[in-house]
Amino acid sequence: MGFWQDGVWQWQLTWRRGLFQWELGLVDLLGSLIEDFKPLPNEMDRVHWEFGKTDGYTAKSFVDAFYNLKYADVERKQWFSQIWKNLAPPRYEIILWAILWKRVNTKDRILKWKTLSWDEMNCVFCREVLETPNHLFLHCRYSWKLWMDCCDDWNMKWTCPLDIEEAFLWWNDSHFSGFEKRIWEAMFVAIVTLIWEVRNENIFENKPPNWRGLPNKVVLRVGMWCKAWKDKMSYSLEVWVNNWKSLRSWRGQRS
Ligand SMILES: [Zn+2]
Repeated sequence: MGFWQDGVWQWQLTWRRGLFQWELGLVDLLGSLIEDFKPLPNEMDRVHWEFGKTDGYTAKSFVDAFYNLKYADVERKQWFSQIWKNLAPPRYEIILWAILWKRVNTKDRILKWKTLSWDEMNCVFCREVLETPNHLFLHCRYSWKLWMDCCDDWNMKWTCPLDIEEAFLWWNDSHFSGFEKRIWEAMFVAIVTLIWEVRNENIFENKPPNWRGLPNKVVLRVGMWCKAWKDKMSYSLEVWVNNWKSLRSWRGQRS
């Protein structure tokens, strides 16, 4: 679970089985979510409900806390409600949420609690600048090329936004409608989650990215996801991959 080092708690999670590659990014995300929560030395463990006043947990304090958090989020972050559309399996939506919230462990975050050498803190793709969420997912010339390649397939022109949140809002404010709009929006999720996976494979498995193959992977991923949507696509994945540019304007059959 963890250990004390010079009076500071260090989380060290161990797992009963080996992790799948796709789980590594989630474990990294879990680490970033729990890093602010540390046990205190010489204190007994106890359950603490921080939203109550004096009487600890009550149903009323839960409801108050829930509404405060929920609406505070919506007010602060326009994009919050646009994530959870079931366009992708939940684990991808969670990663998207963490990316937009800037809670993924990019090197700029790791630097807050760990010293990294110049080489370690740089973007793993271009190795030129500090890895931040905006650089990794947007501004790095490799990631930006992937966005451009995907936009070309839709005849869309895009100037690079400053921030990944801004990018997400622009992307979701498209002129597409129906099935085509959902495909377009699912592509955003597929692109950022693929960049995150390719980055993790590079760091944890020393596997260099195959940038040329990524646009096809985006299409394949969206094709797999849209099979689970309500208006089920009746075509096979193979047909989808080869004909997706005409199939995306398919009107769909409600089941
Ligand atoms: Zn880079």
